[in-house]
Amino acid sequence: MNAIVTGGAGFLGSHLCERLLKNGDYVYCIDNLITGSFENVKHLSGNIRFKFIQEDIISFNIENISIKPDIIFHLASPASPPDYMKFPLETLRVNSIGTDRCLSLAKKAGARFLFTSTSEVYGDPLVHPQKETYWGNVNPVGPRSVYDEGKRYGEALVMAYHRQYGLKTYLPRIFNTYGPRMRLNDGRVIPNFISQILSSKPLTIYGDGKQTRSFCYVDDLISAFLLLIETDYHLPVNLGNPEEFTIIELAEKMKKLSGADISIKFLDGLPDDPKQRKPDITLAKKILGWFPTIKLEEGLKKTLDYYIKVKK
Ligand code: UDP
Repeated sequence: MNAIVTGGAGFLGSHLCERLLKNGDYVYCIDNLITGSFENVKHLSGNIRFKFIQEDIISFNIENISIKPDIIFHLASPASPPDYMKFPLETLRVNSIGTDRCLSLAKKAGARFLFTSTSEVYGDPLVHPQKETYWGNVNPVGPRSVYDEGKRYGEALVMAYHRQYGLKTYLPRIFNTYGPRMRLNDGRVIPNFISQILSSKPLTIYGDGKQTRSFCYVDDLISAFLLLIETDYHLPVNLGNPEEFTIIELAEKMKKLSGADISIKFLDGLPDDPKQRKPDITLAKKILGWFPTIKLEEGLKKTLDYYIKVKK
């Protein structure tokens, strides 16, 4: 099939492009490289079924692409807290105007459409673990709102196209995901810890470290995307690993894995930092027959090994 992947040179996007090519698909990767990097897809550029287009979907007329897409994966968006706080307007625009433009093309082409939503739509959740039916606890004017509200608006837009035009749309809500090719300076906890390990610096914990997250290895997540687009299920679906850890536990695991004698440094907590996050993936299990298979230790080891190799 012909697939367009916006944000294809980002962390998740590059893994998705790679998997689609492995499956024999044609991939048109569009990325303005605001937070993505060509390095992430350089290894794919020799493949005749892969095309990289450096454009911003806000200004680029996506309808000029010479192929008729069968599916559009709209991943383009800054996604780590420091990134979307640095690019607040770009984040709001790519999730609103950008999503609208991609949906419009999907409608014309009769293509399926997947929009990467996020666990951030639940904000700092008052219900734990989070089910898709929970509507969230989001501060609409806080520092995270550009991302949270951008994604919430994007979801509303996707559902409107689905309801109005019968478009086959998909709304994975992605929980914390990690793996090779995350930008080490993107500010998220696992890349931060890895870069601190590689430079023998203390691991930084924001706040008391008792806040929780649940981390999914990237390969598990991509598998779920590809199962989801074959279904007739169009409402949001949580995708993530339900094993929950405090940030202190994560730091201890990474310290052990590194084999180095690294200390832990506690810094001030972040504003609006969700205290707990864990997906309820009952729905994904039911409709996709999917659940994550890669344990945190195994995924962290693969990720750390990747960066050690890249550093050499
Ligand atoms: N965090 C931390 N140290 C770091 C980076 C992040 O303690 O160097 C914490 C952060 O405050 C949050 C959790 O780790 O509670 C996950 O943060 P991340 O930015 O990875 O993603 P989020 O889930 O907040 O979008």
